[in-house]
Amino acid sequence: MHDGFAMDTDRAASPEPVFAFTPEVEAETAPLWRRLKSHITPLEWRAHAPLIAKINRLKRQKGAVILAHNYMTPDIFHGVGDYVGDSLGLAREAARCDAKIIVQAGVHFMAETSKVLCPEKTVLIPDLLAGCSLASSITAADVRLIKQRHPGLPVVTYVNTTADVKAETDVCCTSANAVQVVEHVAREWGVDRVILIPDEFLARNVARQTHIGVIAWKGRCEVHERFTGQDILDLRAAYPQAEILAHPECPTEVIELSHFTGSTAAMNDYVLTRKPRQVVLITECSMADNVAVDAVETEFVRPCNLCPHMKRISLRNIYEALLHDRYEVTVEADVIVRARAAVQRMIDMPPPSTPARYDLVKARHHVDVELI
Ligand code: SF4
Repeated sequence: MHDGFAMDTDRAASPEPVFAFTPEVEAETAPLWRRLKSHITPLEWRAHAPLIAKINRLKRQKGAVILAHNYMTPDIFHGVGDYVGDSLGLAREAARCDAKIIVQAGVHFMAETSKVLCPEKTVLIPDLLAGCSLASSITAADVRLIKQRHPGLPVVTYVNTTADVKAETDVCCTSANAVQVVEHVAREWGVDRVILIPDEFLARNVARQTHIGVIAWKGRCEVHERFTGQDILDLRAAYPQAEILAHPECPTEVIELSHFTGSTAAMNDYVLTRKPRQVVLITECSMADNVAVDAVETEFVRPCNLCPHMKRISLRNIYEALLHDRYEVTVEADVIVRARAAVQRMIDMPPPSTPARYDLVKARHHVDVELI
């Protein structure tokens, strides 16, 4: 036995180490268990706790931090995440913190964004296959073709894109500031149309909030595109008291029928500050699990869709990433410079005076969707 961890002797010949739930591990993780015991079964906890304890020790030894996205499971989000939040919030923390090593508990484009914002740090992702349907819907070559078709129009890119795509664009946006960014660049460039890529639904939902014309791309988030207007009508009928909060990557009919639309950070704030009695979060499954740990006065109705990419990240592969310094995410130096400029332009914009609203319809103009 060492470090409070015991190898399972029956499986000593196995190449896979098995971490046991020793009294030392139990004591070390007891405060966390008290927070999570309404959300994780004792059986699961006995499997998670040894890895959580080991990861947290290894992090301290190596001077590493773990950035955990809102869609990570609660054992990761609450158990080992040093910074938690949405993709942009995590990237900002990556740039601010003084750790030498960053483990991205999220998907590949997020790790790239961390690398772009702090190229001097080692950025690791526990599974290189943790991708994203939205990020993989468009390439840098596609962006160059769109620009050729619409010379003189600014390109606004959602942060859920690869570094190569960010490098081809003028300014990035998030779901929390997309309307503000579109209006700002249109003013600055003196144009009445803006290219907003790659999420078609985000672009359509933004276009309803502004008089600026929007040119979109047919990218979709495979989690949010699956929600339908009928789903929301069924939820309203079954849970008439519930407040329904949707993510702006959902189809417009879903937004129209929901009570509130906002980024994962905005949903989190909504629940924690307004304390609704009953709520439905129309987004990835782990979001409600994570918010519920702190929102003790709210009952969560949980229809949800899993993101298969986010779910590639586990305590086990986070532990392996820290132990073996793998898998390092690299971005070419010239791409870093150009992608960083696009992200920095967004960061330098004045923060929105009010949080993004998707329910105040200003315009119903046609949205052009590019097909190449
Ligand atoms: S939830 Fe959607 S946008 Fe986020 S990583 Fe999964 S597929 Fe991509």
